[in-house]
Amino acid sequence: MSTNPTAHSTSRNFKNNARDQLANADLQAALNKARGHFVDGRATARDNLPEFDDLRDQARDIKNHTLEHLDFYLEAYEEKVVESGGHVHWARTAADAQRIVLDICRSVDARTVNKGKSMIGEEIEINEALEAHGIRPVETDLGEYIIQLRGERPSHIIAPAVHLTKAQVEASFRENHTELDPDRVLEEPPMLLNEARTILRKKYFEAEVGITGANLLIAETGSSIIVTNEGNGDLSQLIPKVHIVLASLEKIVPTLEDAATILRVLARSATGQEFSSYTTLSTGPKREEDPDGPEQYHVILLDNGRTDMLGTEFEEMLRCIRCGACMNHCPVYQSVGGHAYGWVYPGPMGSVLSPGLLGVDEAGHLPNASSFCGRCEEVCPMRIPLPKMMRHWREREFESHLSPGSARVGLGVWAFFARRPKLYQLATGLQMRMLAWMGRKRGRLSSLPLAGGWTKYRELPAPQGRTFQSRWRSGERV
Ligand code: SF4
Repeated sequence: MSTNPTAHSTSRNFKNNARDQLANADLQAALNKARGHFVDGRATARDNLPEFDDLRDQARDIKNHTLEHLDFYLEAYEEKVVESGGHVHWARTAADAQRIVLDICRSVDARTVNKGKSMIGEEIEINEALEAHGIRPVETDLGEYIIQLRGERPSHIIAPAVHLTKAQVEASFRENHTELDPDRVLEEPPMLLNEARTILRKKYFEAEVGITGANLLIAETGSSIIVTNEGNGDLSQLIPKVHIVLASLEKIVPTLEDAATILRVLARSATGQEFSSYTTLSTGPKREEDPDGPEQYHVILLDNGRTDMLGTEFEEMLRCIRCGACMNHCPVYQSVGGHAYGWVYPGPMGSVLSPGLLGVDEAGHLPNASSFCGRCEEVCPMRIPLPKMMRHWREREFESHLSPGSARVGLGVWAFFARRPKLYQLATGLQMRMLAWMGRKRGRLSSLPLAGGWTKYRELPAPQGRTFQSRWRSGERV
């Protein structure tokens, strides 16, 4: 029996989810605290590396080239993995990937599985599948461990517990760590970290299988790379007798040198570090001369709808390296947090990727949760044109008759005028003059038909001066 991951999406409830999150005082406090940290860190890292933007161009070109020859590089990668003694499993769907993981675990009679952080693990809901078969998954990344204790899902792709305050984490440890001395002080993050470390150290030796994700796969050598700041990925893959790498197939790059180029922009964009504390390469199982390592090495390559994006207007999304910079700089994500998006991938990257993986019916409205300020594209290390792709999803939503009736009527009215420029200019000129007149008196723009979403919370600003069109006609340019 496998579980159906996509059945648990609440993406279509984005509006209600967002409303709940805006009223969640703990979430707002946690987001406020994290806000500047990532943004300032990235800005400093970028300023300290003059070639940062050149590296972004190179990283984009590497991924574009790889996507053009995806079949070639994936087959080359498989050949190298097999050469090094490992196995590659191809999983078309999330259910296929679950089944493969379960088969491997059963083949070694696994009772406990240690997990390094893996967004693909979240996408295929591997924890639920393991538990349903009596196998205990243990998250070893600190953030993932905390949310596992709380029965929650990650709210950020690199900082899964960013939605929680210190007090909430302490409460979860006190509730779950039965041997924790009630008098022990756990006020500061290092104290919480030490407490988690004490518990997790013991667990590393209990697992028969270790599962990690992969930041990159290298066709030239058949290696996978993970980057972490806690070293938990190394212990998860070195100590158990079986190592499973869960990766989506667009993680492939041709060479080690290509991987190095991408790594140089990854940590800087994600956390502002020059490099993550641990960058770990794994290539096949333990060799005779190796002091440690797994006896079996398996790589599961997940498609789950990604190849359907090739050759479409969404192909560029497959360049994503999951750094999280787009969500760290997104005013919408920063207000509502990751859970509002209702599935594994939040923020601008989720608004483009989730409709591709879940379908436009389920997640096609997520791209509407954007002010199109463009910051996501500005900071994306892979130069992914996120706003452009969100617009394409909006078009698809409209074409599929999924957008709300009021939006369709509004667009219809706008299109009527937009096709008649003279009438458009006349109507907008009149409208602007009327709003400017109304705005002279405070309170008149506090409730307007069709603008309730705005005026419910604040007054509409009165237009000032001439319209854009009339300024343009008279040759005024900024
Ligand atoms: S879309 Fe760009 S910025 Fe966002 S997670 Fe992916 S690589 Fe990072």
